[in-house]
Amino acid sequence: MKKPDFSKLVRKNVRELEPYHAEDIRCAVKLDANESPYSFNLEKNALERISSTALSRYPDPEAKGLKKAIARKFGLDTDAMVLGNGSDELIYYLIMTFGGPVLYPVPTFSMYGIIAQALGESHKGIPLDKDFDLDLDRMAAYIKKFRPGLIFLSSPNNPTGNCFSTDRILKIIEMASGIVVLDEAYQPFSSKRGFLSLLKDYKHLAILRTLSKIGLAALRVGYLVADDALLNEVNKVRLPYNLNALSQAVAERALKGSFLHDVTSAIVSGREQLYEALSLLPGVRPYPSEANFILIKVRDAEAVHKKLLGQGVLVRNMNSAVRGALRVTVGTPDENDKFMRALKKAVGGK
Ligand SMILES: *Cc1c(COP(=O)(O)O)cnc(C)c1O
Repeated sequence: MKKPDFSKLVRKNVRELEPYHAEDIRCAVKLDANESPYSFNLEKNALERISSTALSRYPDPEAKGLKKAIARKFGLDTDAMVLGNGSDELIYYLIMTFGGPVLYPVPTFSMYGIIAQALGESHKGIPLDKDFDLDLDRMAAYIKKFRPGLIFLSSPNNPTGNCFSTDRILKIIEMASGIVVLDEAYQPFSSKRGFLSLLKDYKHLAILRTLSKIGLAALRVGYLVADDALLNEVNKVRLPYNLNALSQAVAERALKGSFLHDVTSAIVSGREQLYEALSLLPGVRPYPSEANFILIKVRDAEAVHKKLLGQGVLVRNMNSAVRGALRVTVGTPDENDKFMRALKKAVGGK
């Protein structure tokens, strides 16, 4: 039977997409994906115990225990939230629920644009200013003209590492007619206050967080905090049982002790040391970071990226988003040392 030309059969917006490419290069030092270098270890036999309780049954559809554990751990005054299979899934749900146009600054986390495209919604990235802060005038003009259904602001921002200035974020929230999503994936590493306390004042604000960057990326757990009525709308498009039983059980355990807190402080002090070392290295310009990664500029990002790879060090090549830039995730002190040694060689032309 003749094989159909699938590229003609797919929806037009999907035709224009490329599958998401996640780097799968085995490297001794892997600092490309903003993961935590410290892994949570389950106590002995924990998996056996978890799986002995009815793998034949669907998990708790509301993940009530995990919601309570998250609320307790992060000092939320409510356990009203929507959980996602990673916050990526929540971005999907938000766009499916509220529709576009979808507005965000660039460079930023790529999934806002990719998911908007997948769902057939128009999307617009407005360049950050020279300090990597929000370009208020251009965003305001867009908001006025196109009335976006959703605005995504990642603060601290990926890949630049800075927080946007609070007064500009507030102005965007005030002028928005649709939903504003503050993506606080990196908030645990930041010295600035997050925006949770603003939820009571702004009913069209939603806050997105994740356990991925603080040590539990494999579990895929993200959470959305917002007004009950907003959450209720998002819950309509959520797939039943979107959080599997093993992730629920393991995340609950990891949230209990001081693991997440210890990991976060270790990464923050590692970041300060790494920043210091980077700023002393000629030919390298690091940008201050409130996240678990540092953006650096070098003379030839493509070449340096390749030379690092040759020495078993994988970082993220950001050259197409920010000219000359690489993004390095903060690793263990040992990994940071290995990265620094490799970088010295790479920019030294050896
Ligand atoms: C990594 C990242 C996410 C996605 O996190 P998951 O919960 O693992 O899906 C969301 N937003 C930003 C800004 C990120 O960098």
